[in-house]
Amino acid sequence: EIVSDMSEAIFFFDANGRCIWLNHQASDLSGLSEKNAEKAEAFLQDYFGSLALMDPDWALKKTVGDREELQYYVLEKHTIQNKRHTKEGFFILVRNQTEAQRELKKELYNATHDKLTGLYTREYLYQMIEEELRNYPGVEYIIVFVDVNEFKIVNDIFGPAFGDYALQCVADWIRGHVRRHFIYGRLAGDTFGVLLRQKDFDEKLAEEELSHFIVKKDRREHQLLIHLGVYHVHDTMREVSVMFDRAHMAISTVKGDYKRHIVYYDEEMRNEVIWDQYISGELETAMKENQICPYLQPVVDREGKVVGAEALVRWIHPKEGFLSPAAFIPIFEKNGMISEVDRFMWRSACKILADWEKRGKDIFISVNISPKDFYFMNVAREIRAIVEELGVNPQKLRLEITETVMMNDIDNRVLMINELRDAGFIVEMDDFGSGYSSLNLLKDMPVDVIKIDMAFLRATKDNQRAETILRNIIRLSSDLGIESLTEGVETSEQYHMLTDMGCQLFQGYHFARPMQVDGFEAYCDTQIA
Ligand code: C2E
Ligand code: CA
Ligand code: CA
Repeated sequence: EIVSDMSEAIFFFDANGRCIWLNHQASDLSGLSEKNAEKAEAFLQDYFGSLALMDPDWALKKTVGDREELQYYVLEKHTIQNKRHTKEGFFILVRNQTEAQRELKKELYNATHDKLTGLYTREYLYQMIEEELRNYPGVEYIIVFVDVNEFKIVNDIFGPAFGDYALQCVADWIRGHVRRHFIYGRLAGDTFGVLLRQKDFDEKLAEEELSHFIVKKDRREHQLLIHLGVYHVHDTMREVSVMFDRAHMAISTVKGDYKRHIVYYDEEMRNEVIWDQYISGELETAMKENQICPYLQPVVDREGKVVGAEALVRWIHPKEGFLSPAAFIPIFEKNGMISEVDRFMWRSACKILADWEKRGKDIFISVNISPKDFYFMNVAREIRAIVEELGVNPQKLRLEITETVMMNDIDNRVLMINELRDAGFIVEMDDFGSGYSSLNLLKDMPVDVIKIDMAFLRATKDNQRAETILRNIIRLSSDLGIESLTEGVETSEQYHMLTDMGCQLFQGYHFARPMQVDGFEAYCDTQIA
């Protein structure tokens, strides 16, 4: 009775090997009843294959059915012994394991596959790549790091459902390129990883597809900016995570670039990143210890008199020596630390101005404002606070803004510039003519001075057209009541040409290079003498 309550199917055989009884699970399975129980052996052999029914106790696993209806069974044969330990017969127990097997498979799948996209998880991806590299040592592989730029913003603006869908689209895009030796997975939130053969990577195609990666859902539409960082697998013994780190590193050099979607890792890049991190770590001390300081380059008028100076940052590093802005400004612009530098420079310039004012020196200083500053602080408020604190006349602090500042959020930037002008500052448009739409911006940007980019002067050496443009920019600015300043004046010919054209202010090596404050003061004094 106990026997028939069990969930397994059981067939009892007597000592002669004849089936004499079966429980109802067994009859459900076989379609036999107690009456035709003797057919059980044939059924078992039919259904599970030739079983050695007469063998001693055994157990085996068996898969039965077609692809859709696959059933997993465990079969066991148990001998029945009487009290005198002589054989009285045996029974065969059939346990259906399909459910348990399915669960197991599901668990395994869940542990190795990402829920949202169905791709491998990072851990499993790494494991599969390691295996692949071990198994095919002769194949030339690349590792590709796939990064969705500013995905957080997509999530924030369009909602998480759209965000999820966008990630699925990226996963599908990767899936669409599957071929032999192609292993891919999801690394983390908005990043994916792929291993493939170098010769299978169609860079042109990928670049083309990524140039218009548009996600559409419920009448919402957004173009994703996706970057691929590519690492060439030279050393298959290197850890997979390190390979992906390097591919990722490559992307950091094109972040936000809409024109270039694919970038290759190289050693130089690694050195660059190491340098970036090193120099960023040095900044705080550098400012504390005054390794960073302003150099002043004279600005002269049409009579050759020094009327002002531009403050240009210099870093005299105890180990690295003299560093020009090119060695660190771009790095700090990328990571936002530029605002620390600029704040420091504005304050330094104001200290100099305060000192000059006391000594009756009537000279202005122009400071640079990085376009990035606007992201990290309220520029107008900060500058006003410094000027007030140090008691400087705002007329004496000129503010250099590049036209890229206006690229985003024009209306607010115009308000900010007007706020600064109302407070008495003189606002200059730096590097005029180096951008894409300078003339167009001039219409919206309420500036007092334009600083004409030195590229125009470089070109005038052999180019009549550049000279014509220069002449007309100067005339245009004068018509608009804007003061013009030409940068990069290196020869007296250029100086004379520009004065003839009507330019009002000049800056360049022809007059002096940027120099330390006391050097600048001495330069001014020799002029008077
Ligand atoms: P910029 O604002 O256009 O500064 C003018 C650059 O031209 C300076 O380079 C200056 O030394 C150089 N220069 C001046 N006269 C001549 C000349 O006759 N011929 C040539 N070939 N060059 C001349 P510098 O000091 O290396 O600065 C480079 C750039 O770094 C600056 O360009 C500016 O964009 C940035 N920068 C410098 N200091 C700061 C700062 O304190 N804050 C920010 N945000 N950027 C700064
Ligand atoms: Ca400047
Ligand atoms: Ca400039």
